[in-house]
Amino acid sequence: MPRCTVVRRLHFNAAHRLHNPARSDGWNAETFGPCNNPNFHGHNYELEVMVEGEVDAETGYVVDVGVLKRIVEDEAIRHLDHRNLNLDVPFFREHLPSAENIAVYIWQRIVDRIPRGRLKRVRLWETPRNWVDYEGD
Ligand SMILES: [Zn+2]
Repeated sequence: MPRCTVVRRLHFNAAHRLHNPARSDGWNAETFGPCNNPNFHGHNYELEVMVEGEVDAETGYVVDVGVLKRIVEDEAIRHLDHRNLNLDVPFFREHLPSAENIAVYIWQRIVDRIPRGRLKRVRLWETPRNWVDYEGD
């Protein structure tokens, strides 16, 4: 059977602050720039979840995108949207809430829930110009 990659795009807003308490204020300001702002700031995140697999002969789908959307909303978006990532999401007490780590968080939350095909990539835009890809490594 032919194989395709199905992509679902989702959106959320969240606040964060990138700050490594093990390093000096100067190091943090230089390393993280505006993302080190002490009183947090927001981003409009765009998320793409990509699932690759065989096209099912009976449905013509790799995966039902409606089902995929609900999984990503329930497992990830619901926990991130309109949240302060540093304060509201336990994962980010242990990990800096960078786009990279947010993509890893989303991957870990959904990878075992994909009903058909396999999760190929989580792509997360932090700004219209900056995005990260995570493929499970
Ligand atoms: Zn930021």
